Order: sequence, then structure tokens, then C-alpha cells
Amino acid sequence: MKPEGSAPEHLRELRDEVKRVIDYRSFYTRYCPEARASGSRLHGFCPIPTHAHTGKGHPSLSVDLQQGLFNCFSRGEGGDAITFYELMHGVTFARAVRELARELGLDGRKSRPSLASRAAPDPAESESDTEESLNPEQVASVCTRFIEVCRAEDQLEGRAYLARRGIDAQTARRAYVTYFPRRAYRRVMRRMLEAFPVETLRRAGLFNRRAHLTFYRHRLLFPFIVEGRALYLQARTTAAGVEPRWHNLRGPVPSLYNADSLSRLASGSVVYLVEGFTDTLTLLAHGFNAVGLVGAGGLKGEWLAPLARFRVVAALDPDAAGRRAAARYRELFAARGLALAALNLPADVNDFFRQHPAAALELELMTETALDGDGECLVIGDE
Ligand SMILES: [Zn+2]
Repeated sequence: MKPEGSAPEHLRELRDEVKRVIDYRSFYTRYCPEARASGSRLHGFCPIPTHAHTGKGHPSLSVDLQQGLFNCFSRGEGGDAITFYELMHGVTFARAVRELARELGLDGRKSRPSLASRAAPDPAESESDTEESLNPEQVASVCTRFIEVCRAEDQLEGRAYLARRGIDAQTARRAYVTYFPRRAYRRVMRRMLEAFPVETLRRAGLFNRRAHLTFYRHRLLFPFIVEGRALYLQARTTAAGVEPRWHNLRGPVPSLYNADSLSRLASGSVVYLVEGFTDTLTLLAHGFNAVGLVGAGGLKGEWLAPLARFRVVAALDPDAAGRRAAARYRELFAARGLALAALNLPADVNDFFRQHPAAALELELMTETALDGDGECLVIGDE
């Protein structure tokens, strides 16, 4: 009859915390608004649903506001405010404690900030000023080791997230997309601390000033591989409602995403220029060549040189921003003597492939048309 006796310690601590801050008068009168106060006691009709009182006759509930204890003398049942809450809502002790704690603004970890808050990246203003950033060689070693450490963890949830977007495991593996589950957070953190001084990890943006790994909510990692080495990475959350959705290492984005794959392609191949990791991987999963523009920095002129020997086709989002971007990129290409064809898909690449069973064929047809023409947008079926 005393379930809290066997409750885990943190729950009992939370219960004590609830009892320290709760105001018994407002708590009990919320359920018994008609109760009369006399001194430090309340008397009223007992509202406990399972007692099934008629509400007539003598009020049977008595509350000691000093102790916070209630008693229903008609049914011979009494206890503290937690028990009262359990009976009123038909919930367990654990749930009663948690719900009351939440109502009272207690998170149960008063003396210790949550892991999520300890893992928060340092504020942006503290990043750049005082200290020099790591050289690219150091960032590459940190990044490469981070990928290795995370690859040793269970990839299942990350694979499932990508699979829901139509990106198969083989494509993800080839692109070194890597995941680690939240339960591995401390182990990953420890492994990184074994490999590098915390100062190095902090300057790479992997750790914060509290010496915690900052990739706590963002555990699906997209590395930028250049000449076989991971030079940089961005990571996204796989949970809904987490903002920001992306987190990355310090320093600038070093290249187009998947640029390393270009060295393996024959000259004259068609290469798609898309926005984002998902669109890039979607095309790779369907056997197309693609590089992605990711991050806020925009397209850099020096990234275009490796594209010079290919037929490049932009497949950007079908909105005003995508059309503006296509026009801007075409100018950038033209400034280097390169041509950029552009497709006007009815949806972004990932949606297009998920919504159209014959997407691959349609894309090929649209691409032919775009490359034959002057690169203006054309609709399938036009001759
Ligand atoms: Zn009662």
C-alpha cells in the first residue's frame, strides 16, 4: 500500500522537493473549491472519484494544511498530497510525482544541470575571438577519429532515419554517414578524450567549455571527405521539434558535399548540383552523380574547378529561393567559362523520388532536354 517505499531514489528526492515547495491550501482547494477553512484545516465534500460519494449529507474530507495530509473519514482513506493526486487522477506514484514536479517548475535535477544543457555548444561570440582555430590538419584528425569512434556504435536508428527518406544503407555507408545513439554519448565522449587533449577538442568545436561533447542532440553525422579524409562534418538531429536542426564543427565548409566522388568519374559525366545532404544522397542512391551545396556560406568560386570536366545540371528546390539560387550559380559558372543547365522539378529531389515511381527515368528525360536546350526549364513531354 506504500508504493513509494520501493521507488527509486531520484523519485523520492523529487517527491521531497515537491513537498518543500507545494502550497497545500491552493493544491487542495483546487479540487475542493467549496471547502471551508478553519484555522489550519480544510473541511469539505470528498472529491475522490473512486469513493463515489453522493455529495449529500456530511462533508467527509478533512485536510491538515500544516502537514499537507488529507483524510476521508467516510471511507477511512487518507495520506499526503501525492496520494491525493494519485487518487484524483488514477495515476501511479511515479507519475503523480513527475506531474506535480512539472506543475511546480521542478525538473528534478536542481543541483545538476541536464546532460543536454551541459552539452550545449558555447555561445557563438566566444568562438572566434580569443583563440586561434585549429589548422586543417588537426581538424581532419579530430574529425576522422570522431567518425571512427561513432562508427563502432549501433547505426540502426540512423539507418532507419535515412531509410524513411529513401536512402539505403549502402549509399549511407559509402558516403560515410555515421550515427551514434544517445545511450552511447558518454562512451563516445570518453573515447575522444582518450585520443586528444580537451583543448584540441574544444577548438575543433567538438567539445564545449564544460568539457562536454557538443554533439548530443545532433548525432547523425555527414562528413566532408576530401582525398579520402574527413575534413569537416555537419550533423543533424533525427528527433522532431529540435532547433536548431543542424550542428557542425568549427570552421568553414571546405568543399561541396560529396566532391571527393568527382575524381572517380569519367569526363563528360552528368553531375547534379543540389542543395542539402538528403537530396545529394537521394540521387546517389538512385545511381546518379551528385554534389551538394550545404551550409550558410554559399557556393564558392574555387569549388567549381573540379566540376569543369563534367556536364553540370542544377536541381534546386522549386521555390523562389531555388530559382534565384540557380540564376546566381549560373552567373558564377559563367564567370569561369562553365555552363550550368537547370532543371525545374515539381518538388525537391527527395520528394520527387518519393512521390514518383518512375522518378529516375523522368529525371533522365528532363536532364537530356535541359542539356540539349539552352538550360531553360522544360516540362516533360515537350518536344
Ligand atoms: Zn472520500
